[in-house]
Amino acid sequence: MPSSAPRTLHSSRAFLVRATDMGEADRRFTLFSESQGTVSLLGRSARKSRKRFGGVLQRYFLLDISWSAVSDRMPVLEQVVLVASFWEIVEDWEKVRHADYLLEMAVNLFPQSGPKPKAFEALYSGLRSLALGEAPGAVVVRTEASMLATAGWGPNLVACKACGSNPDGAFRFIRSEGGIVCSNCPAPSGEPLSLGAVKTWRALQSSSPSVLGRIRLAGPILAELQDVMPKYVEYCIGRPLRSLGS
Ligand SMILES: [Zn+2]
Repeated sequence: MPSSAPRTLHSSRAFLVRATDMGEADRRFTLFSESQGTVSLLGRSARKSRKRFGGVLQRYFLLDISWSAVSDRMPVLEQVVLVASFWEIVEDWEKVRHADYLLEMAVNLFPQSGPKPKAFEALYSGLRSLALGEAPGAVVVRTEASMLATAGWGPNLVACKACGSNPDGAFRFIRSEGGIVCSNCPAPSGEPLSLGAVKTWRALQSSSPSVLGRIRLAGPILAELQDVMPKYVEYCIGRPLRSLGS
């Protein structure tokens, strides 16, 4: 007889991304965690009783979760503690759809398990800013820049991909190249991006979290980035994200 497989215990700060029913009594919870990235956990009896986990398994709550894992079986959620609530998000549909986009972006940009401290910090900061009432468009652009860079998808915004120069003119952003092409070089496709937008994105993806909040995001530059960045995120992920669709 094989000896029983070792059971490992884990704990982490996490945000709930989605919950689905499993059978008559259980639920499956997908969370984005700081210590393991995206995790899918079995919540025993969570369908039968909403109080099973103290009623705190809600989106926009910063949670402290513990779970156990045995070899290749689905890990089991053991305990959930509420750390902080960003419940102000549900007051406003605009905040909700932008918050859901951030959650979806996190699980899709970081599908591999393993510690995700920077991505988690970006998600935490984004949800907190939405709850505090910061403009959703600016919060999303900032979080996109940070998560793309952390995931290794940050575009090269220093020089033209074709000629290597760094002219002071307008650019085109080429998704498939992960970079920009200057106005002197032929670019069959791509979206226009002004020098201001290029510089702002560059600053956003190279700054530390404490500096990020001080970069002003408004007006035409914000509008340009709001147009270009979600499409690039979808390109990197390889499929559309629903939450920002109108
Ligand atoms: Zn060029």
